[in-house]
Amino acid sequence: MRLEIVTPDRLEFSGDVESIIAPSVSGYIGILPGHIPLIARLTVGVLTVRTGTSRLTLAVSEGYMEVSPSKVIILAEAAEMPGEIDVERALAAKRRAEEILATSKEHVVLARARASLQKAINRLKVAKYQDGSGEGSPSVPEKIGRE
Ligand code: ATP
Repeated sequence: MRLEIVTPDRLEFSGDVESIIAPSVSGYIGILPGHIPLIARLTVGVLTVRTGTSRLTLAVSEGYMEVSPSKVIILAEAAEMPGEIDVERALAAKRRAEEILATSKEHVVLARARASLQKAINRLKVAKYQDGSGEGSPSVPEKIGRE
C-alpha cells in the first residue's frame, strides 16, 4: 500500500509500505494493506513503518491518519526520522518544560509544558533507535506520557 506522511513544511515520506503502526489517541493502531477505510486522530508517539526491505521509525506529533485499502495519508504537525532529530534541541525543550512544571501554577502554562515534555521525550526516544544499541526497540511501541 502507498503511504504519504505530510507535515506543514514538507512531504516527509512517500512510498510503498507493508505495514504501519501509528499512535492514535485511543492507542496504537496497526494497518495492513486492504484495511477498511477509517480516519484516526494521532497523538504524540512513535510511528513504525515496514517496507519490503527495512523498518522506519518516526517521531510524530498530533495529526490525522486517513486509511483506505491501498493508501494511507498521515497529516501530522511534525514528523521526524531519527537522523533528523536534533537531540540537543530536544534536551533543551525537555529541560524547559520540566522547569515550568516544577514552578508554574497556571493551568494553561502547565498543560502546554506537559505537551512539550511529551514531544521532547518522544524525540529523544526515536533518536535512540538509530544508534545501533537496540535500545527502545519498538516492536511493542510504548506510549509516552499518556495518562
Ligand atoms: P522546540 O521547543 O524545540 O521548538 P517544539 O516541540 O515546540 O520544539 P514543534 O512545534 O513540535 O516543536 O515542531 C516545530 C518544528 O520544529 C517542526 O518542523 C518539527 O519537526 C521541528 N522540531 C522540533 N523539535 C525538533 C528537534 N528536536 N529536532 C528536529 N526538529 C525539531
